[in-house]
Amino acid sequence: MRIGIGFDLHRVVPMTALHSIPMGGVTIPAYFQIQAHSDGDVLLHALTDACLGALALGDIGQWFPDTSPENRGKPSAEFLQKVLREVNRLGWRVTHVDTNLFLEEPKIAPHSEAIRRNLATLLGVDLSQVSVKAKTMEGLGPIGHREAIAAQALVTLECLSK
Ligand code: MG
Repeated sequence: MRIGIGFDLHRVVPMTALHSIPMGGVTIPAYFQIQAHSDGDVLLHALTDACLGALALGDIGQWFPDTSPENRGKPSAEFLQKVLREVNRLGWRVTHVDTNLFLEEPKIAPHSEAIRRNLATLLGVDLSQVSVKAKTMEGLGPIGHREAIAAQALVTLECLSK
């Protein structure tokens, strides 16, 4: 078995009108925009890094440089899918994912089931193997001041040949 951890943070820009932001590959409404070279999906970025970390394959910045024009505005699901193909090629598969989201708003609870379902589909696992949790920073620090949002992920992999 292997275990990987991932973390990601992006700056956000407050908006007076509702915008759509990507979270775990699901579009949800928020009163901010995410600053990013790609689509800025912190949850998928953390998850991709966790998959890379589990097999010591480097990090998302090495795989998908933010200086590369081809990664501009790219759906982050494509990053995860490419890494999962490599995980499978090396003889491993994901068995469980646990995640934390850090943001003051919007509330994630109304969207958490849709996010779990999408992650389960992307990872090829059962819904019961995907956990999505969210918490605020209680108004403290850059996340609490609505200057950033962040996510962390933990994945476990099992060897297909065992
Ligand atoms: Mg990122």
